[in-house]
Amino acid sequence: MALLNNNAHVFQSSPAGAVLEAAVGTKLAEMANFSTKTAAGLTFPGGSYSNMHALMVARNQRFPEVKHGGIVALAKAGVRPVIFTSAHAHYSIEKSAIAAGIGLDNVICVPTDDCGCMNPVALRELAHREIAAGGTPFFVNATAGTTVLGAFDPLAEIADVCEELGMWLHVDGSWGSPLALFADPSVFEYPIPAGRINSLTINPHKLLGVPLQCSFLLMRDGLGVMRETLGLNASYLFHSAPEDDESADGFGLHQQKQQLGGSWDFGDATMGCGRRPDAIKIWISWRYYGTKYFSDRVGRARQLAIEFADMIASRNTVHTSELGNWKLFVRPQSTCVCFWFIPHSEADRHTGRKNNNGSTNPQCWWGDVTKALCNQVNATGKLLLDYACVDRFAPTSVPGEYNKNTVPFFFRIPFNSPGVTVDTLEAIMNSIELAARHLYSN
Ligand SMILES: *Cc1c(COP(=O)(O)O)cnc(C)c1O
Repeated sequence: MALLNNNAHVFQSSPAGAVLEAAVGTKLAEMANFSTKTAAGLTFPGGSYSNMHALMVARNQRFPEVKHGGIVALAKAGVRPVIFTSAHAHYSIEKSAIAAGIGLDNVICVPTDDCGCMNPVALRELAHREIAAGGTPFFVNATAGTTVLGAFDPLAEIADVCEELGMWLHVDGSWGSPLALFADPSVFEYPIPAGRINSLTINPHKLLGVPLQCSFLLMRDGLGVMRETLGLNASYLFHSAPEDDESADGFGLHQQKQQLGGSWDFGDATMGCGRRPDAIKIWISWRYYGTKYFSDRVGRARQLAIEFADMIASRNTVHTSELGNWKLFVRPQSTCVCFWFIPHSEADRHTGRKNNNGSTNPQCWWGDVTKALCNQVNATGKLLLDYACVDRFAPTSVPGEYNKNTVPFFFRIPFNSPGVTVDTLEAIMNSIELAARHLYSN
């Protein structure tokens, strides 16, 4: 416990923690295909903060005047920084834009395909549209495992656009990147073209089951750029400036020190000071369970998702339910399964009903049914289910424009826990049918 209460801001207060953090960062970077000679990673208090730091570093690298002059300096020069993310990305990208002074109006949501993957052609078009309108695109967030559908954006095509237009490519792999790093390729394959990616977020506290919080931001070119763009080198605390730090000598870790930006004091590379030694949690899990366990764990989550999707797709015929119809939203690309159950009595109930925005989408009623069923299941106290939507972002054929309220709420089950079995999947389906019987049959 004492180890977990150490302060990981300076080497002197947590030498073992610093060495472990650097080692795990490098190991994760290696598994993500980054060069072990240059890449490094640091922990942040969650994926949102890892993403936010990536954006701040990218902003200050592209616009160095911001560090001293603030965002005002850009406004004075008539520069409007613009960032891009897929319409299905996590909201932390927008939060980061608020914090970094970019502003929500300068976060452009790129349309996706039906599976929720970013459309790189639309990305290129939107970037050119912004340039024509006087904007300066500088950052793209691609998602490896979107929160709702578990979609993986096409990194190589997105990297093409980023290289063409000189944009920083960040990959938000908070949720899904452990699949890419650890899964056996026969179960899940998603090659990461790491040489073309500037930064990547991975949350071991999600798919790897490491206790909260444990999130890494991996930097292709090491931590030097973090120190340059965000550091102050406050010498009353951070003594290990590149020229005078000998504190790591005894460890023989000078090559690594280069990757860490010339210092073993990590606090100054972040926007904070005191830091939890979060790396210790994944280091202990990794030592105890081993890489094979992580690989099996994420592979099993993927296989359960496939199994569950198959059960949903076949239930209508196998079970010929007198109650209603099961319907998948999309085939799951990774470990999130999204679906509806529509009781027969409700299937036609929509006729004549208006959607929230006045349109007569025949499916608008399904969302209300999903919520009612979900609440009914949860009231039994045996299972806790949840629902989600992609409402806000249903793409239209016009890049950058979205239909509101066109996709009704659906059940969403993100597989993760190794405690879930096929029996659990049966129980979920049975409990939804039971709820439907209770609510909709008379
Ligand atoms: C969960 C999630 C985040 C946020 O991570 P926190 O650790 O909860 O801050 C960011 N991006 C994606 C895709 C996520 O699923």
